[in-house]
Amino acid sequence: MAAATAAARAGFRVVLAERSRHLGGQLALAGRAAAHRELFQRWLAWAQAELLEGAVEVKVNTLITKEDCAAWRRVIVATGARPAGAPLKLPGRLAVLGAWTAIMRPTPLTGSIVILDQDGGWSAMDAAEVLATHGHAVSLLTETSAPGFLLRRSEQGAYLRRLDALAVRILPHTRLIVDGDGRPNVFLRDLVSGRSSPLADHVGAIVVAAGRTSDSRLFLELDSLPGVQRVGDAVEPRCLEDAITEGTRAVRSGHFL
Ligand SMILES: Cc1cc2nc3c(=O)[nH]c(=O)nc-3n(C[C@H](O)[C@H](O)[C@H](O)COP(=O)(O)OP(=O)(O)OC[C@H]3O[C@@H](n4cnc5c(N)ncnc54)[C@H](O)[C@@H]3O)c2cc1C
Repeated sequence: MAAATAAARAGFRVVLAERSRHLGGQLALAGRAAAHRELFQRWLAWAQAELLEGAVEVKVNTLITKEDCAAWRRVIVATGARPAGAPLKLPGRLAVLGAWTAIMRPTPLTGSIVILDQDGGWSAMDAAEVLATHGHAVSLLTETSAPGFLLRRSEQGAYLRRLDALAVRILPHTRLIVDGDGRPNVFLRDLVSGRSSPLADHVGAIVVAAGRTSDSRLFLELDSLPGVQRVGDAVEPRCLEDAITEGTRAVRSGHFL
């Protein structure tokens, strides 16, 4: 979106294509959580006004492939990132889902919910806040000393205060262990004491936040075409500021013109 508005301002005819029903990518997902709601709404209003003013043709529900790109002089690939990690295999009674899915669809889950913060980023914290706000009893597990361990201290502190107010149970230094093949047992191990306890029967779902991986499939397909640039999380999953700066810079750089 940053590249599209910058290119329109520079006088180009621009098409912005998005495979899902609406614009915003991961920020739209993040905007479902309290931590980012206001940022997302303000940013979306600004970006939509910019796209309109620049007469950018916006196509949603449009998956772009190599064939669509051949006719264009410049293609900026901002295909972002998707959740990483292989799905956990757990006994039948437990639902297992990723943090992005839990943020998007918090209502169908039953029982209390255990969230595994494996990546220390925003997703586990956002999932905990969204699920607790929807009335679920939530426990947030991390093998480190606190969830959100990669976030800035002030940001992590703000999350932890809100999660405390929502009665989210934080379990530091804790690992979820699946033992056995036929009828596996699931239990929690305290990594400091070494003690284990079975996962409580009232737990109905495990939510996993296992990080992000760049979605570079389109870029790799387009490798042989001239005038193709990759920006944002499609290069490597990082943050919003990187995506916006790189999108804008891709147009303002001498190569584009
Ligand atoms: C829960 C969560 C919370 C976050 N919180 C923060 C935060 O507090 N601060 C921060 O800086 N960052 C945060 N981030 C990260 C930030 O949102 C991303 O780094 C940023 O949005 C990346 O932008 P992007 O445009 O590169 O990619 P994305 O936002 O991933 O957008 C890529 C878009 O491309 C579309 N697409 C993919 N392939 C195709 C195709 N072939 N054809 C058409 N469309 C396609 C996708 O549907 C998607 O909409 C958070 C991320 C998550 C998931």
